[in-house]
Amino acid sequence: MEYFDVVVIGGGGTGAATAYDLALRGLSVLLFERGELTSGTTGRHHGQLHSGARYALGDPHIAQECMAETRILRRIAPDAIEYNQGIFLAIDDEDAALTNDFIAACREADIPATEIPIHRALELERRINPAAKRAVLVPDGTIDAYRLAMRFFASAVARGAVIRNFTEVIDIEQSDGSVQGVRVRQLRTGSEQRYACRAVVNAAGPWADKVAALAQQEVPLTAAAGTMVAVEGRLTNMVISRLRRPGDGDIIVPQRRLSIVGSTLRKVENPDGLRPEEEEIAFLFTCADELIPDFSKQPYRAAWTAARPLAGRAATEKGRENGREISRDISVIDHGKTGSLKGFFSILGGKATTLRIMGELVSDQVAQYLGIDEPSRTALFELYPYDYYWRLS
Ligand SMILES: Cc1cc2nc3c(=O)[nH]c(=O)nc-3n(C[C@H](O)[C@H](O)[C@H](O)COP(=O)(O)OP(=O)(O)OC[C@H]3O[C@@H](n4cnc5c(N)ncnc54)[C@H](O)[C@@H]3O)c2cc1C
Repeated sequence: MEYFDVVVIGGGGTGAATAYDLALRGLSVLLFERGELTSGTTGRHHGQLHSGARYALGDPHIAQECMAETRILRRIAPDAIEYNQGIFLAIDDEDAALTNDFIAACREADIPATEIPIHRALELERRINPAAKRAVLVPDGTIDAYRLAMRFFASAVARGAVIRNFTEVIDIEQSDGSVQGVRVRQLRTGSEQRYACRAVVNAAGPWADKVAALAQQEVPLTAAAGTMVAVEGRLTNMVISRLRRPGDGDIIVPQRRLSIVGSTLRKVENPDGLRPEEEEIAFLFTCADELIPDFSKQPYRAAWTAARPLAGRAATEKGRENGREISRDISVIDHGKTGSLKGFFSILGGKATTLRIMGELVSDQVAQYLGIDEPSRTALFELYPYDYYWRLS
């Protein structure tokens, strides 16, 4: 049976960053993805490079982490990012009243946020709502979700990691309370193989609870689906957000020649095959028009839905069942400590923006478990170009 030090489950951005981090520490790494790489939430998110401003009020830890990672990603993956900045718009009196607290919370999280007059905001982005009451400039940007993840995959492969897509992990083998290996099924042929390893990282995003169940372990996770709608035309170059506490339909992101409004939030039991609902699309258009009048009059391009892997369970009381109240904080679970399986680790929560630090945090724990005294070095070097993935693998 082939042996690897670590098996990573999940070929989204988190799995890619984890495989790279572990490989840079000198470990042999094998990653399985049951579909195409990035076919989970990573390939379907909104594409905002979060400065953290959205989370500054109420979720300060992830806000700080987003800002720190924005700085690092601009250095290590410059061509996967459009750093055009963002504007938060106060549309009504309630938003306007929140503005000073919002700026203070951003600064507390080390996010440079500056109020600008509305006429200056309109000079920067002429299509935004001229009736907006206040405007704040923040260092947001746009991510090319695919390229960013593929740059981590390319760098992982360059350091010797082996990536197997269209291969589903169907069992996590254990003996005497420790991980021994995995059993996988190739989805094209149906053939099954076993691989030996000393540690397994569960980076299965909104499927992380289902993967943990393969090892009879528990992961407190809420799969929170969100819908986004794209229209033709790049209405702004900057990310335009509603200045209020995080809610539905409050962000418009430019992506290439499209403008995308998002998103909504509803708890789902199964993150597979999610579809947008008609009411969600109509609601998102209404919200978008408040930020950019006439957004809904642009030619419709597409709507789609993906699930967030939120770390925690949605509260059961009325009005709090969908998971909006759950922090976006990153959670690393060492199941040898919280459960009953040594060598099994889960990583969830966070954002696409924080993929690198998620890989670092879980790899720190894996390295410690394996007795490897090597620090993370993923923040130090520019990543391999994304297309090297195919040349190298
Ligand atoms: C509506 C919405 C908008 C968002 N917008 C943004 C944004 O603008 N900016 C931002 O920074 N973040 C955003 N996010 C958050 C971000 O998308 C996620 O945090 C991130 O993509 C999660 O990546 P991941 O690698 O952890 O999960 P995923 O990308 O879902 O990867 C997990 C992978 O595991 C695979 N898998 C599952 N089970 C198995 C198995 N048994 N064997 C093998 N493989 C398996 C799945 O196929 C999947 O590809 C958004 C999320 C949503 C839902």
